[in-house]
Amino acid sequence: MRPLYPELSSKPVAQPPLGPRTIERFCDLLTRYLEEARAQYIYFAHPLEREMQEALAPFFHKEILEHSLFAPAHPHLKNPDFYPELRRMGIKGLIDLRMVTAIAFKDIVVYQEKITLRSIFHELVHLEQYRQLGAHNFIHQYVQGFFAGGCYEAIPLETQAFDLDTRFHNAPLEFFNVEDEVGRLAHQHQT
Ligand SMILES: [Zn+2]
Repeated sequence: MRPLYPELSSKPVAQPPLGPRTIERFCDLLTRYLEEARAQYIYFAHPLEREMQEALAPFFHKEILEHSLFAPAHPHLKNPDFYPELRRMGIKGLIDLRMVTAIAFKDIVVYQEKITLRSIFHELVHLEQYRQLGAHNFIHQYVQGFFAGGCYEAIPLETQAFDLDTRFHNAPLEFFNVEDEVGRLAHQHQT
């Protein structure tokens, strides 16, 4: 995900301690939310345009470029029904999903505004993370990263996507392999 406006970015805050069962429950709720969004928007999904695939070919696994789907969010994304419950528990800095450029889930990117090549890059990094980790581990690492770091920007999966999209944006002809980069981070989490 990328917020539409940088000023909406959150600052790290101390989150209330949550037990593993509570975290597990929120992972399940988030997975259900993403599954429902995928089902809602997939009808309008299209593959990545051929010229974009060619521009990104030096960076991404062929499978990611050829099989990823992109869907416009009509109507716009709504915040999950479980947000009020999280707020009541004292959790702060929840990502306002009505205000993100795009959101990735498994094999699909749902976008809420015209998506730039840099944002496509960012979301494809997430799809590569999904590919390597599997949806279950991706969601767990995402949620745990949020609670451990205190905000969205501190989630290691996000930090990596931001770092790589910035690297691409600053030097689009200096090729690197996203699959290897994601593999390194995934490996660090396992050790
Ligand atoms: Zn992101």
